[in-house]
Amino acid sequence: MNEETKAFIDRVTDESLRGAVQPREAIIRMLAMDPSSEEVAYLKQCATKIAHAASGGCAGISGAIGVDLCSCDMNCKFCSFGTEWGIVTEDIVYTKEEIINMVREYVAAGVTTITLRSTEFYDLKVLTEWLGDIRQQVPGGYLINLNVGEMTPAMAEAAYQAGATSAYHVIRLREGTDTPFSVDLRKQTIKAIAESPLRWGTCIEPIGIEHTNEELADRILENMAMGPHSMGVMARVNVPGTPFGGMEPISQERMLHILAAVRLSIGTHVHSCSIHPAIPEALYAGGCGFTVERGANPRDAALNKNVWRGFTVDEAKKLIEDAGFACVPIDPDPRFRTDGRNWWKAGNPEDYIMPDPIASATGCCGKQKPGG
Ligand code: SF4
Repeated sequence: MNEETKAFIDRVTDESLRGAVQPREAIIRMLAMDPSSEEVAYLKQCATKIAHAASGGCAGISGAIGVDLCSCDMNCKFCSFGTEWGIVTEDIVYTKEEIINMVREYVAAGVTTITLRSTEFYDLKVLTEWLGDIRQQVPGGYLINLNVGEMTPAMAEAAYQAGATSAYHVIRLREGTDTPFSVDLRKQTIKAIAESPLRWGTCIEPIGIEHTNEELADRILENMAMGPHSMGVMARVNVPGTPFGGMEPISQERMLHILAAVRLSIGTHVHSCSIHPAIPEALYAGGCGFTVERGANPRDAALNKNVWRGFTVDEAKKLIEDAGFACVPIDPDPRFRTDGRNWWKAGNPEDYIMPDPIASATGCCGKQKPGG
């Protein structure tokens, strides 16, 4: 191994363990290494050390439920729900009872977080009201993460009061080019989440072969400037029928390399960092957790009644424990007991007004309003 590179990685590791975020040039230097090199193998080892230190040796499993399979007029180029691609021919929306049953099954199987994911225009007020029923009917210390449309501060507060613990929101790679969203609107929602009691989770996504090291580094630093509670990396699935259909996917080797570079770049103050779609080796490259998916999925054309790609909670749990992590929530929420009793009581969601993403579209592929 190149000695100078090893010394650089050792320095980054030491700084990361002490919580430091790396500067742009150091992030780019890590990302520019050869994914198959000895140096990147060492980078992954060091990222693994950081993952155990940052998470306290814990790794979670997020059980995602895509609550609605609906065509979406935002037409993000990577999403199978885009109306223009014509993939979704019939809208399917899960009922409250169906969602509660899936939550119950996930929690019984051992997930540590439930992620409720919707398309952009799903009514968050309805989902927020259902959170109370979920918490009452499925007791436990699990976290609830929302991956939904844009949010105001009142919506974030209401979701927290109703039993959610975090919300996922992302400034996408090539936002405004591969999507019609403006970066400013994304930042507005992220600010609403980050300044509410909800934890803000984010990701570098969706990564394709065309994204440069500079673009990845800029997104990492942009996220860090807004104080994320967790961060991850996600490969783009080039769904047939979408504009990316047929394009060569990014390799797993490169995704593991990016994961390791991100884990080292963001320091141990960010406790959790993981990869999606799951790659077992991620637990040896800086990852501490997996997501298992059911229901509607922007990475698939069909509704998944069972888990996506056959990746089960049991399999995720075994991989996590074999890698030496405890499969428990990394940062439990003290509002929810783990002894099976449920002391929690729902708050009253406030009325709120949805931000209008179409009105703020920058103009590439959505039904944007001119000058909006
Ligand atoms: S990614 Fe979200 S906003 Fe974009 S088309 Fe899909 S559901 Fe709509």
